[in-house]
Amino acid sequence: MIKTFSVDILKWYRLHARALPWRMTKDPYKIWVSEAMLQQTTVKAVIDYYHAWLKKFPDVHALANASAESVLKAWQGLGYYNRARNFHKSAQIVVEKYQGEVPRDPDALRALPGFGPYMSASVASIAFDIKISLVDANVRRVIMRILNIHGPAVSARDKDILKFLDVVMPERHCGDFNQALMELGAMVCTTKEPKCNMCPVNKHCQAFKKGCQELIPESKKVSLNEITAVIALIKKGSKYLIQQRPDHGLLAGMWEFPGGKVETKKDTGLKAALKREVFEELGQECLVGDEFCRVKHYYTTNKVQLIVFDVLLTGDKFKLKSSMRWVGSKDLKEYPMPSGSAKIVEKLLDTKQVNP
Ligand code: SF4
Repeated sequence: MIKTFSVDILKWYRLHARALPWRMTKDPYKIWVSEAMLQQTTVKAVIDYYHAWLKKFPDVHALANASAESVLKAWQGLGYYNRARNFHKSAQIVVEKYQGEVPRDPDALRALPGFGPYMSASVASIAFDIKISLVDANVRRVIMRILNIHGPAVSARDKDILKFLDVVMPERHCGDFNQALMELGAMVCTTKEPKCNMCPVNKHCQAFKKGCQELIPESKKVSLNEITAVIALIKKGSKYLIQQRPDHGLLAGMWEFPGGKVETKKDTGLKAALKREVFEELGQECLVGDEFCRVKHYYTTNKVQLIVFDVLLTGDKFKLKSSMRWVGSKDLKEYPMPSGSAKIVEKLLDTKQVNP
């Protein structure tokens, strides 16, 4: 089995792999871009971002010299904004310490911000053909089935999986081998209804032999937290008030409209919640007017509903802090925002087109 496993999967990969843009290059920076974007994001969602990113930051020097705000803006919509910040920091280190050459050594890669075991192995193997195995969710599922390992797909299994991969990995074409496993998981050995009859390694697969492939891995139930947040559209002339989040913690450095979570134990209703939030954030009383719109978005295991109101500040205590700006509706698109706030901006622009 061990002898032919890599031959079988590589042969299949060369015939059937999707022609993805980052597979057409050996440029380590471009491979790094794709791997940074693909973590927890689908291939389909990444393709447009990949092209736009390379247009804006064609090489590691361009990225290193860019402003933090333009990096976040280019990343907007991919989520997990810490990845963008780490990517930016790592590009600066690569320029300063390695004269702009992405290091080949997996340990040197691993020392860069944002590079865990997966990222360092993927960039080293795909860009430089270094022999180093990796595990992502697709690979974990494929190998659990090959080895007939029952139970949930948790990272505690990775030691055994890596041990197996170290044995079956070929001496050359290591990047293709790693990509072949990931491709197999994405296209053939899927979570539901794996296409075992078309699988290039079915003769090596213990779960398939036993007919229990669909029971591996054990599915875990994910329960979504439902969150309601209220958002204030505060206008001065034709401009809206937005504020920047602190440069650490969740969504660090992103811009958003004032507002926050409804606290069901404390707030007597949506408008009361928004009055409280505005007072806490701006130190200012306000009148909450009509509802402007509702938008939904999801992140990790949260389902968030943003309920947006027109708000008028009352009194004269409001002072613009350095983290706040009044911005015209068209210019709002220039600011990096989390998905929910970006959807509100889209609604504002739609309304402007109807009622300019
Ligand atoms: S035979 Fe089926 S379960 Fe086994 S690796 Fe192939 S697709 Fe997955």
